[in-house]
Amino acid sequence: MWSTRLFWKPFTYFSLLIILSSVIGGATTIRWQQEQIIRQLELRLRNTAIALQSPAEEALAHQDIEDFQSVIQTMASQINTRITLVGKQGQVFADSHKDPQQLDNHGDRPELITALKTGNGSSKRFSDSLGIEMLYIAYRIEHQGTTVGCVRAAVNTQQISDQVADIQFKIATLVLIIIVGGLSIAGIGISKMTQPVVHLIEEARELTSGQIKKPRNLSKGNEFDELGQTLNNLSKTLSKRMRQLERNHNELLVVLEGMKEGVIAVDGSDCIRFANEAVCRMFSLDVKRDEGRPIWEVLRNQMIETTVHKARKSDEPFHGKIELLTPHELHLSLSASAIPSSSHSSSSKNPGVIIVFHDITEIHRLENMRRDFVANVSHELKTPLASIQAFAETLIDGAIHDDDNNMLFLTRIVEQSDRLNLLIQDLLSIARLESGENVTDFASVDLTEIAQRCLNDHQSHAAKKNITLVSNQIDSVWVFAEADGLTQILDNLVDNALKYTPEDGTVSVNIQAESRAVRLQVTDTGIGIPADHQDRIFERFYRVDKARSRQLGGTGLGLAIVKHLVNAFGAEVDVISAADQGTTFQITFPLVDDGDA
Ligand code: ADP
Repeated sequence: MWSTRLFWKPFTYFSLLIILSSVIGGATTIRWQQEQIIRQLELRLRNTAIALQSPAEEALAHQDIEDFQSVIQTMASQINTRITLVGKQGQVFADSHKDPQQLDNHGDRPELITALKTGNGSSKRFSDSLGIEMLYIAYRIEHQGTTVGCVRAAVNTQQISDQVADIQFKIATLVLIIIVGGLSIAGIGISKMTQPVVHLIEEARELTSGQIKKPRNLSKGNEFDELGQTLNNLSKTLSKRMRQLERNHNELLVVLEGMKEGVIAVDGSDCIRFANEAVCRMFSLDVKRDEGRPIWEVLRNQMIETTVHKARKSDEPFHGKIELLTPHELHLSLSASAIPSSSHSSSSKNPGVIIVFHDITEIHRLENMRRDFVANVSHELKTPLASIQAFAETLIDGAIHDDDNNMLFLTRIVEQSDRLNLLIQDLLSIARLESGENVTDFASVDLTEIAQRCLNDHQSHAAKKNITLVSNQIDSVWVFAEADGLTQILDNLVDNALKYTPEDGTVSVNIQAESRAVRLQVTDTGIGIPADHQDRIFERFYRVDKARSRQLGGTGLGLAIVKHLVNAFGAEVDVISAADQGTTFQITFPLVDDGDA
């Protein structure tokens, strides 16, 4: 309260006014009092001098000075006034305070000179005879029209000074009391007047800083209280709105933070004002570190910079795509819109921009895969078709009559047709599996029985290459799967094992029933798969050695079909292999209760 300008400013003015008026008033009164005292003394001296004019004329006319001397001595002691009778030549005839014989000629005294000339005179000066400052009044004495001398009355000016000092002291004390009293009253009055304003200012300050406290209880009274009441109502409304805004803001934050899409907002100077979690993940941002920094400095991507500027210039959202290589390989589609600036915030010339990023990496990958797949399928179909066409045309061109080669050409046509058929069957299987069809016929299936049947089917193929085909399991092991799918898995794996194992090798099918899973392993002693290819062999048309695969009648789809089926059964497939060290494909099925059987 005491520290407010609101108090000190009026208080200073009031204080100056009180002090000035008191001092001026006091000084004027003292001066007036002093003049009054002097005037009264002068009057007294004049009256005395006038009263003594005729006795003095008598005394001078009859040369009866001694009587006059005794009269003035008595009188002077009573009225505390010095009285002197001076001849017209300045000789002193009588004096109430000194022996006239001892006094020098007074002809040079200014009051006497004036009195002889004009009738009366006065002066205030130092008395050589008494050695003190005196006030003199002199009157001319005439006898029968002739000037015979002057009578002079005088008082010690010390009297005046004493009286003036006494009055000065009293008036100064009064002035001091008035000042102290006035300042106290002014202080209390101003404090009372400004107190409600100070409270109002405090409240308004809280309102502007957003810290809205409980409204004060105000009594109904003067205009300030009314203003306070209005401010209280405003505070209530504002605090309600602030709470609502805060709630909305928090809800918006939760939505933005929970979004899969990355959202980043920049202000008119391109500085980052908001970035949600998704965008932080995409660009490895740290909100705490990067908030407030220019977007071009943080993201270092020309496309984003261009996007911000284009969005700012247009009323429509700007759409684009970017590819990130670091920190992760990402394909993002983005949509940027200028944030419409309100009329209040138009201080910055540029509007802010909000950019939403969609991660389209997966879509992009699938799109690429689809494109590759179509290209691969066309290529894979074209190769046997071209062979069939070439052999058929050769036969038509006359080779049909060439008994040495015609059968060979026809055999090649049949082989290529088989290959085409195999390829189409595998493509159909893939298409079926990818569309999610035909893998719904789940049941408890005896894996041992299916494995045995598969080994039997491939026995003749194995025998051609003198490959030993064995299984370790004879007891039934049940898995929850689809019988046809299981057969297809085992056929593909055993077929691959036989294809990629040189003559005199071994291919074994092992089945182990463990406490929590069933493990199926197809192991061969073949050419193995180098470690750097193992991640990709389950992709469609991926082959370690294309020429060898084709030569062995491979379609490049076998393992892709296996992977799809295994996934559909809720199982997992792993490959354990190394170049020239043989290969083991291992499928782990989750355990099936007997109750399901
Ligand atoms: P393919 O019809 O060419 O055999 P797959 O999808 O069945 O196609 O297999 C993909 C590739 O994986 C094969 O081309 C081959 O390079 C490799 N591969 C699969 N099984 C084996 C195995 N048992 N031994 C060595 N390589 C194999």
